[in-house]
Order: sequence, then C-alpha cells, then structure tokens
Amino acid sequence: MPEEKLLNILCEWLYDKKDHLERAIAQDKERLSREPNLIHLIKDIAEKERCLGMNSENAMAEYQVFWQSLSPHDPYPCPFCFVIHNKISNLKAMPEDNGEESVKCRDCGTQIFFPSGACDS
Ligand SMILES: [Zn+2]
Repeated sequence: MPEEKLLNILCEWLYDKKDHLERAIAQDKERLSREPNLIHLIKDIAEKERCLGMNSENAMAEYQVFWQSLSPHDPYPCPFCFVIHNKISNLKAMPEDNGEESVKCRDCGTQIFFPSGACDS
C-alpha cells in the first residue's frame, strides 16, 4: 500500500531528525565549553534537548498507531508537529520537482523529500 510506504519514509525522517538533533547538541555543547558566555546557545541546547526527548520510540509508535487509524480520505499528519508539538497538522503533497516528491506541513512548514515513485504501489 502506498500509504504504508509514505509512513515508512516519514518514520525514517523522524529517525534522521533524532540523529541530527543528537549531533547538533554535541556540537553546541562543544562550542559552549569554549565559549561559556553564549546565553543563546544555552537556550538552543535546552530547546534541542526538549525536542530530542519528545522524539522518542514511544512517540513514534503513537504516530504509527494514529496513522493506522486514519480513514482513506483523511489528510496525513505531520510527523514533526505530532511528535514534537503534540498536535495534528496536515501534510500537503507538493508537485514533483527534479525527480523528487515531497510533502509539506501546512502548519510548521516542515518539508520532507523522497525520490519520485517511492510511494507507488
Ligand atoms: Zn508540522
């Protein structure tokens, strides 16, 4: 089913996001150890750690369960809004561009790209 392929893509995106956050936090902390007076960096780290905490295995599982409960004509929920902000926002399919398709959140603007045809059955 194409929907399941899209769900896999979105879950992989969440995993990547987790990796990315972990790396960004490590870099920020490294910088903070050299420049301990950067107040904005302390706030950045706290916000990233909050996001990382929200992006848990549990939250991903809940996202998948919610996805399975959708009716065929329901819009797809944004993984970022669902997991990080605990709210349901709709993804919109974007026109194909240069061999890539994408979905974009109407609310947070997150855009997730994947190769054209990846969701075809
Ligand atoms: Zn969103």
